[in-house]
Amino acid sequence: MNEVIVEVQNVGMKYQSLNGEITALENINFSIRNGEFVSIVGPSGCGKSTLLSIISGLFPATAGTVLLSGEKVTGTSRKIGYMLQKDHLFDWRTIYQNVMLGLEIRKLVTPEAKDRALKLLRTYGLFEFKDKYPNQLSGGMRQRVALIRTLMTDPEILLLDEAFSALDYQTRLVVNDDIYTIIKQEHKTALLVTHDIAESISMSDRVILLSKRPGTIKNIYKIQLSCENRTPLSSRETPEFQVYFQELWKGLDVHV
Ligand code: ADP
Ligand code: MG
Repeated sequence: MNEVIVEVQNVGMKYQSLNGEITALENINFSIRNGEFVSIVGPSGCGKSTLLSIISGLFPATAGTVLLSGEKVTGTSRKIGYMLQKDHLFDWRTIYQNVMLGLEIRKLVTPEAKDRALKLLRTYGLFEFKDKYPNQLSGGMRQRVALIRTLMTDPEILLLDEAFSALDYQTRLVVNDDIYTIIKQEHKTALLVTHDIAESISMSDRVILLSKRPGTIKNIYKIQLSCENRTPLSSRETPEFQVYFQELWKGLDVHV
């Protein structure tokens, strides 16, 4: 088995607000192995984004510890790449210039880095669009550009916070497949936050279900599907998919 790369130990988070203290997370424990794809699902406001921010070192938890490859997280790290719902591409920069932005800021632009950018763009079907501007691309293509930009700094772990939520259903299915394929081909570890149960099952090795606020772990589902050459789309065709869907739906306790 691969080594553990992320360890979340007894993490809790209390926010201080004008109306008093809000407990966002309580007693969160899990670990992720190198190369795993793990999802976190839970109702709105249960602390999913808070948890990703803590893991990424954007701010500290008020309780517990996060370890990355055995080292305590005390701030942001090059090991982590972050992808959000909004792609944050700059409209006045070309696709290529957007992809290079992170390296430019860190003054890491080298001939090798430029080659790597072009190679990634070519591999993932964006080479012909490298001199176009973001508003000339579809939502799905823009998310692929955002992922390639994140990959340029070669993070080990990708954190995706509702990265597909802004896309319409059909596009989301295709982008799920595209992004999954890229993450697997580039041998990255991924932690995806989503409120879409089907998305979580179809993409993940494990799904962590959080309770409503204060977020605690209700259950962790190991996803085992009978399909060869698994992709998110083919996952949805398996009989097990429906079984997991029903279990998670019950677990999420959605009232409609
Ligand atoms: P989710 O991503 O699951 O929707 P969040 O992590 O964004 O949930 O938020 C969890 C809870 O913490 C929510 O009730 C939210 O209002 C509260 N919260 C988030 N950020 C802050 C903050 N900076 N100050 C005070 N409360 C916050
Ligand atoms: Mg959120």
